[in-house]
Amino acid sequence: MTRKLLLIILDGVPYANWRRYFGGLEGWVASGDARVWKMRASLPSMSGPCYATIHTGTPPQIHGVLSNGHIHRVEMPDIFSQTRKAGGVTGAVTHSWWSTFFNRAPFDFVRDIEYDEPESESINHGRFHTMTGYDHVNQATPCDADLFATLTSLCARFNLDYGILHTCTLDSLGHRYGHECSEMDHACALMDAMLANFLPTWRKMGYEVIVTADHGQSLRGHHGGTGADQQDFALYYFGDAKGPEADVLLDQLQLAPTILGRLGAPVADTMKADNFLI
Ligand SMILES: [Zn+2]
Repeated sequence: MTRKLLLIILDGVPYANWRRYFGGLEGWVASGDARVWKMRASLPSMSGPCYATIHTGTPPQIHGVLSNGHIHRVEMPDIFSQTRKAGGVTGAVTHSWWSTFFNRAPFDFVRDIEYDEPESESINHGRFHTMTGYDHVNQATPCDADLFATLTSLCARFNLDYGILHTCTLDSLGHRYGHECSEMDHACALMDAMLANFLPTWRKMGYEVIVTADHGQSLRGHHGGTGADQQDFALYYFGDAKGPEADVLLDQLQLAPTILGRLGAPVADTMKADNFLI
């Protein structure tokens, strides 16, 4: 491994919300500590398909997760398996679908809710949540500060080379309230502040950090379809690589090969998009 990297996925945050509410992240862009681009999700711009696209670098029509009703083991190379091939240690603090897609299916609550499997060819250190019972009223999401702390703990205890954190808090709030409301203003600012408590620590621990989303959401709180509101989100990068011009629109297919490039792990033949951080 040439570098260590953390990927932070805030589910369902449209581009406009990143740029207007995440003042902490924007402050680091202004100070030159981070860069930001716009990235476009694959189609359908639905969570399950986008998670599989993020990690395999292939579109849903190739990886086979065609909707949130197709939750199964994805039998393709992904960031976890390629990192393991290079001898790196992987960790995940995410919704259980990431475990289902990239480690074991179906998800067994007791066996899979957390595991430490140093010999795994996929996820070595997993801490998951299922959001069972999620509906319009009951978000069933964990506290994000707790998730950030859990990832930090895994990094410190197991020296992760690659770690991913994923949280559905803002996606769930968007479905519930939409995006032109004080509830969303507050929720984004709170998330930004929680992140600010951990990001400098991750950088001091030697990690490059990417903070981004899996897809956007329309003002009415919908996603799955086409258009800038549902598909586009911001991508913030903290690290030493050179990237493209600020106005270049990135493709979600680029994320997997780019992360593997930063880690120094082999890019799979199935990952055909260009690395955008050299
Ligand atoms: Zn999502």
